[in-house]
Amino acid sequence: MLNIDTIKNGIVIDHIKAGFGPQIFHFLGLDKADFSCALIMNVPSKKSGKKDIIKIDNIINIDYSVLGFIDPNISINVIKDETIVRKIKLELPERVENVIKCKNPRCITITEHYIPSVFRLTSKEKSQYRCEYCDAPYTAGSID
Ligand SMILES: [Zn+2]
Repeated sequence: MLNIDTIKNGIVIDHIKAGFGPQIFHFLGLDKADFSCALIMNVPSKKSGKKDIIKIDNIINIDYSVLGFIDPNISINVIKDETIVRKIKLELPERVENVIKCKNPRCITITEHYIPSVFRLTSKEKSQYRCEYCDAPYTAGSID
């Protein structure tokens, strides 16, 4: 049972695949936050064995499309007055810019730093993306 007692008004990012938490925490800029927030790792989960959870004691703007790109199975609960008032379901965005680096070392986005990395959704069923420049594949939920 997820304990949300410590959050009055904020956001709980749940069902993060174990090990993905730190990257998402960092990506959201929470490592530099001046409000209270927590990264809880390796929480036992019935669904997946272990998961990470991020609790944010503040209503912040989150780019949900980017979270969907990182892992569409993440669930987001918005808390107001210690109650879940909204659950946000993530979707795979059609296109993302500068979220991950291309894995192809010869890709122009790696050799030329001023070119932004762009990934486009090529298969919704497989959660598969491809680099716009070199076609290198990326599957949502597989950041390492
Ligand atoms: Zn590439």
